Amino acid sequence: MKDCLFCNIASGVIPAKIVYHDDLVVAFDDINPQATHHKIIIPRKHIATINHIQTEDNQLIGHLVSIAAQLAKELHIAEQGYRLVMNCNAGGGQTVFHIHLHLLGGRQMTWPPG
Ligand code: AMP
Ligand code: ZN
Repeated sequence: MKDCLFCNIASGVIPAKIVYHDDLVVAFDDINPQATHHKIIIPRKHIATINHIQTEDNQLIGHLVSIAAQLAKELHIAEQGYRLVMNCNAGGGQTVFHIHLHLLGGRQMTWPPG
């Protein structure tokens, strides 16, 4: 989608520090990190919110999660633990309307989240 920030990062129109990419997903450093390690993992396919995920996307969403787990291993935070977050709509704190997983790690997470 032309006016979508994350579509433009996925296609290389807007630069980002890409840490992983394949045919289906792209991962990059969050521009405003909230932990020692803060990566954003997105599908190349434009899906606006969790509410827009279709049954046909199930495999893609599974892939998104497994790439997050792979990155956590590579960052050596898999054993100590990390957090995956996907915000939905304004009430959930979503600001970019192209679904993305936040991978946060390298510090102790607290609960409840803000
Ligand atoms: P959310 O609030 O869940 O929609 O998350 C959006 C995330 O995208 C935030 O953590 C932002 O810091 C991050 N972000 C916004 N613009 C960029 C960008 N140009 N490059 C990398 N991360 C970004
Ligand atoms: Zn998009």
